[in-house]
Amino acid sequence: MGNSYTDLHESRILLYYCFTPIADPTAIMLWQRALCEKLGLTGRILISKHGINGTVGGTIASCKAYTKATRQYPGFKKMEFKWSEGGAEDFPKLSVKVRDEIVAFGAPEELKVDENGVVGGGVHLKPQQVNDLVAERGDEVVFFDGRNAMEAEIGKFKNAVVPDVNTTHDFIRELESGKYDWMKDKPVVSYCTGGIRCEILSSLMKNRGFEEVYQIDGGIVRYGEQFGDDGLWEGSLYVFDKRMHMEFSDHSKQLGYCQHCGADTNLFHNCINGSCRKQILLCDDCAASTATAHCGAEECASVASETSGAAEATGASETGGAAEATGASGAAGVTGTSGVSS
Ligand SMILES: [Zn+2]
Ligand SMILES: [Zn+2]
Repeated sequence: MGNSYTDLHESRILLYYCFTPIADPTAIMLWQRALCEKLGLTGRILISKHGINGTVGGTIASCKAYTKATRQYPGFKKMEFKWSEGGAEDFPKLSVKVRDEIVAFGAPEELKVDENGVVGGGVHLKPQQVNDLVAERGDEVVFFDGRNAMEAEIGKFKNAVVPDVNTTHDFIRELESGKYDWMKDKPVVSYCTGGIRCEILSSLMKNRGFEEVYQIDGGIVRYGEQFGDDGLWEGSLYVFDKRMHMEFSDHSKQLGYCQHCGADTNLFHNCINGSCRKQILLCDDCAASTATAHCGAEECASVASETSGAAEATGASETGGAAEATGASGAAGVTGTSGVSS
């Protein structure tokens, strides 16, 4: 099989994950690192005893060779790769690491996987089946946002419950808080960007007495690809690459607004206080002014007023990579174009 001119001269990004038992994560890590180095791929790959989560970029020829070689490992044989616009230049380097978890929920011992994936997770629904469930059960159905609360500020499923979480680490505390016990006997549809977070979240929910838990195959990305803004999704999708957000159509609902002046915006910015890691929605004007480019916390406001007149506020920059996996902020799995894996 030769490579075409296009294969050699055009680039793409691959987004993928797979839950499967890995007896020797270090051996897989070394193999994957050598494979990516040989092919000139950059990006981020996390491996745990539960599986793999990655986002890599390179020439089409390299991406093809990578998927073929990676599927040679029996556990990864059925792995789906999402192809997106982009390339090696979207990632500063190659990072292949072994972690306790491929998505950091803080529950490495609780998660069980076998050859078929996560054991005891929510029932997978295709986008159409999500609509069917709602048509059948109506208001009884609860959408449960499996992302960080911030992501839902610009888009979510209609009437979704958005848990108070800054990172995936907060979910267990939330689930055990009692706040959501009212939905334990209801049909609950968990959702996240590309589906990886809900593979784990839905199993954690079931373990805590949520009786009827579902998850959306391919997450918001796949639902949006099918139904755009004419289904149950409302607003923009937060993505972990330079774009920061994406819309599924030209008539997406506007949910985000500037924290300072209330103007419409879907763009997050880093708080001007370098030691505050918050991302906040700011309109262009408020982001451009050092006086207003803060998250609202007292300390940050005073940093802003001190800095005022000095440096320009910088744009946010949560870049690609298996960002979802880090739990630090969100979801991989952005597939529409160039994004992250989940
Ligand atoms: Zn503003
Ligand atoms: Zn702040």
